[in-house]
Amino acid sequence: MKTSLRFASLALAALAALPAVAQEKVLNLYSARHYQTDEALYANFTKATGIKINRIEAGDEGLLERLQNEGANSPADVVLLVDAARLAKAQQMGLFQPVKSPELEARIPAHLRAPDGSWYAFSTRARVIVYNKASVKPQDADTYEELADPKNKGKVCTRSGAHPYQLSLAASMIEHLGEPKAEAWARGVVDNMARPPRGGDTDQVKAVATGECGIAVSNSYYVARMMRSDKPEDKDTMAKVGVLWPNQADRGTHLNVSGGAVAKSAKNRESAVKFLEYLASDEAQGYFANGNNEWPVVKSAVFKNPALEQMGSFKADPLPIAALLKNAAAAQRMMDRAGYK
Ligand code: FE
Repeated sequence: MKTSLRFASLALAALAALPAVAQEKVLNLYSARHYQTDEALYANFTKATGIKINRIEAGDEGLLERLQNEGANSPADVVLLVDAARLAKAQQMGLFQPVKSPELEARIPAHLRAPDGSWYAFSTRARVIVYNKASVKPQDADTYEELADPKNKGKVCTRSGAHPYQLSLAASMIEHLGEPKAEAWARGVVDNMARPPRGGDTDQVKAVATGECGIAVSNSYYVARMMRSDKPEDKDTMAKVGVLWPNQADRGTHLNVSGGAVAKSAKNRESAVKFLEYLASDEAQGYFANGNNEWPVVKSAVFKNPALEQMGSFKADPLPIAALLKNAAAAQRMMDRAGYK
């Protein structure tokens, strides 16, 4: 009698577990990555695991707002964001939960993930300096500090100082120079502008080619994308500009990341961790490099990308990404004080 009761309760437990098992076969992904080439990345995860991905794509601001409004009811399991400044914001808003994964810890270098596992970087991008070959000497523009040097008055173009890419660069300047010097730098860049900030990184590179700007900063993948483009106008643009790895003689070029996390109230937590582990697989890492011209975070990942090859190797700033997150709020206030629109 006792035995059959235990059997019955075991059977009940198994039945009760069924819906949960079925639930594990779906993953709700909130992504701010804005790259079409990511399609293959998601399709292959489903092929390998049978877990279907429901994807919600939105701009970073909209995505974070949505997550906040949904709160504990949010269906989100995984959140993918680009740039440390956005990871910082999401973390500050309490949208992530830490996960322990020996696999992620083994594959992703410590400086590219949160110490408590609340986010992981899956690809890196460098903030490069682009210059007009006809009007600017490369030695006058090969450090971020020189963007603020009076010798470059009227030559500098960047996207908005409120944009995460500029905020993270500012956060790295705070870490390396201290806040007073970093603020003087931000003011110097504003003083040197050829025009008020507008447009994205690609627009800055194009404006350097036309001569409207002499020097600009851009994330590396936008430059690589234009290098790989067959469009005559892109070829023309790239023929007129030079690309520099800033600060090679000292700390190295500012590196940023695209990263992901398990959402605070993930209902499919196991699948979520599995997906993050998949993003760190050699196969997925190859997609980041070949599809969106970013660098894998996993050293063993192999990729073949002619633009990345052409751009060559460089010394990257070894600053932990967590330091950028730590300085994100201070960077925003500093850019405001400096009048960096
Ligand atoms: Fe981007």
